Amino acid sequence: MSEVTRFAPSPTGWLHLGHAYAAWFARQAAGPGGRFLLRIEDLDRDRVRPEYTAAIFEDLGWLGLAWEEPVLRQSEHLPVYRAALDGLIARGLCYPCFCTRGEIKAELQRMAGAPQGPDGPIYPGTCRHLSAAERQARIAAGRPYAWRLDVARAAAEAGPLSFTDREAGTFAVEPGLYGDVLLSRKEIEAVAYHLSVVVDDARQGVTLVTRGQDLLPACHLHRLLQALLGLPEPRWHHHPLVSDASGRRLAKRDDALAIRTLREQGLDPAAVRHLAGFRQP
Ligand code: GLU
Repeated sequence: MSEVTRFAPSPTGWLHLGHAYAAWFARQAAGPGGRFLLRIEDLDRDRVRPEYTAAIFEDLGWLGLAWEEPVLRQSEHLPVYRAALDGLIARGLCYPCFCTRGEIKAELQRMAGAPQGPDGPIYPGTCRHLSAAERQARIAAGRPYAWRLDVARAAAEAGPLSFTDREAGTFAVEPGLYGDVLLSRKEIEAVAYHLSVVVDDARQGVTLVTRGQDLLPACHLHRLLQALLGLPEPRWHHHPLVSDASGRRLAKRDDALAIRTLREQGLDPAAVRHLAGFRQP
């Protein structure tokens, strides 16, 4: 079966063996006659660097991958994500959050046993309880704020949902897994990964989302956002992560296994493929 798949790296470090695996996996999953897309997820302005973006093209090309042009760079499409966010805000599914990181931390410390989500402790919901008048007063006073999803309202509107991963099976969506997540950051006209990823998978016509197993929990939230935004549900396949010799999962800081380091050491793409444990069917 042919699929439309994508590899969607964030240019916040050098690509490593795990990225090579993910890119080959996505390419292969597209099947003969399928389409393989590359998307640059460069919305995190604090961490993105142009040299990392340039290296993505260079490294993937060296690995022998070919992708469709034009490549979608998220930083060039901010109004599209903003429109999706505005739609959720207009429906009363988001609220402005004025908390600083320090305030959230202090609040969590006050609560014994704050619930944990996949990315750490869940936001305690402080600003969810503000009155409309208080929100307006704070905004009028120029207080910076971010937008959070009101998960309870969102779940009530979306109704029960599920998703199926090709490897892990079918799950009932737990809408509150991440709590009231941030959908846009303070002061920066950018939206969070969870929102931009579902918007782009839909508008690029991605039929099969492939990525590492670390992002499987994110499907609970992605499925909810897709339902709220009326977006089609893609198929999903989360693959195992590549680990290093000591069994530790690779991270961007592990420059030793960066594709460019391996290339400089004289490895060829076939050797990198072997090292990543990627097998052609
Ligand atoms: N940009 C994300 C990352 O580099 C991947 C997102 C995805 O594949 O959905 O981790």
